[in-house]
Amino acid sequence: MRSLRISVTDRCNLRCQYCMPEPEYIWLPRENILTFEEIAALTDGFTDEGVTRIRITGGEPLLRRDLPVLVASLASRSAIEDLALTTNGVLLKAYASALRRAGLHRITISLDTLKRERFRALTGSSDFDAVLAGIHAAVDAGFTGLKLDSVVIRGTNEDELIDLLELGRTVNAEVRFIEYMDVGGATRWSPAAVVPRAEILETIGRHYGGVIPLDERSSAPAERFLLPDGTTFGIIASTTAPFCATCDRARLTADGIWLLCLYASAGTDLRRPLRAGVTRQELRQLIHAVWALRADRGAEERLGMDRQTTLVPLRALKKDAHLEMHTRGG
Ligand code: SAM
Ligand code: SF4
Repeated sequence: MRSLRISVTDRCNLRCQYCMPEPEYIWLPRENILTFEEIAALTDGFTDEGVTRIRITGGEPLLRRDLPVLVASLASRSAIEDLALTTNGVLLKAYASALRRAGLHRITISLDTLKRERFRALTGSSDFDAVLAGIHAAVDAGFTGLKLDSVVIRGTNEDELIDLLELGRTVNAEVRFIEYMDVGGATRWSPAAVVPRAEILETIGRHYGGVIPLDERSSAPAERFLLPDGTTFGIIASTTAPFCATCDRARLTADGIWLLCLYASAGTDLRRPLRAGVTRQELRQLIHAVWALRADRGAEERLGMDRQTTLVPLRALKKDAHLEMHTRGG
């Protein structure tokens, strides 16, 4: 366990078709949402057990009030070597400088299309220009190593791979194409909508005259590639080539449920022991014991199943918000 993704809210200001396509959602009860102090205390338990990389996510993390305060608290912890944020970018213009001052290291912005009308259809929002402004604000604030994440969906945006790469080049961000995953919440998913890694590479290689795989050994989900002009990009092929064997991630929901896998049907409640006054040492022991028994291989198992229906049926999602991607943080 080296990496922890912390969801700070289950709320979102977009309604991406591949994540929150339903008209209504049930939300985590407000009183269960962890305070910044509680998040920091749990983070200490995880770093005591080996975590060195933290990613703040959501829902949309910038909807969480005073997020830079949490960032500053985490940034001050010497055990954390890498502190990153994943955001849809809508509110980034307002927060980029404050996040930088608070000590955030890196930002990943999710953007799937450069066409305004398509953005509206895909996200239910007219905030496309705000996202672009957010990307530029991150550059202006001095963030380097920006990433742009795009979920590729057949019939939706698979014709924009080159345009997205070109935007990445312009703002000095590495683009990562994500295969559409049938995680909980993706109720519109179908096998036919997945654009596999091989096809993504084919399209890009044809346009640029070749693609060179970078031979890297890492636990990062993205495989990286080089274009003849030196541009790099990544592909996260969770659907056709899962990377469970090298996964070192823990995931914490905004109400303190610890998930061992993005596909896990249940997790360990850390909020309850925390609010009951667990010591740092006891928390560490609890985390150690749970992780030691981890045998999750969610994406690999899914690969072997009948995929004509989505992973989690809508009626199950309606009963338990913890099954949703926007609660788990992606
Ligand atoms: N709201 C923030 C954002 O969109 O960047 C952070 C949370 S979001 C759940 C994290 C990531 O999960 C995003 O990059 C999003 O594109 C990705 N994601 C959501 N649903 C997905 C799906 N069905 N397949 C693949 N990626 C998905
Ligand atoms: Fe889109 Fe992220 Fe919101 Fe999901 S959580 S609807 S991916 S912006």
